Amino acid sequence: MKCPKCAFENKETAIKCTTCGIELPTVSLWKPTWRWHLTALAAIYGFLIVLFFVLNIVLKPYLRQIPKDITPWLKDTVKIEKVG
Ligand SMILES: [Zn+2]
Repeated sequence: MKCPKCAFENKETAIKCTTCGIELPTVSLWKPTWRWHLTALAAIYGFLIVLFFVLNIVLKPYLRQIPKDITPWLKDTVKIEKVG
């Protein structure tokens, strides 16, 4: 970065000029756009959704099972007996 006072060419990461010592104006090297923010959010949410399904598949044997007698509609071979 060129010093505005003495025109000395400093390093890009320099905070002060090496010859005259004035503080150099800070320039942010990376300015993320709205598109970048949306992409980052989409990546994070996508990762979380995929992680949810992967964990659901991996942890399926360890999850608490719903008792079969309170969910008869989940059994396809069950025969619901009618009273009377
Ligand atoms: Zn300078």
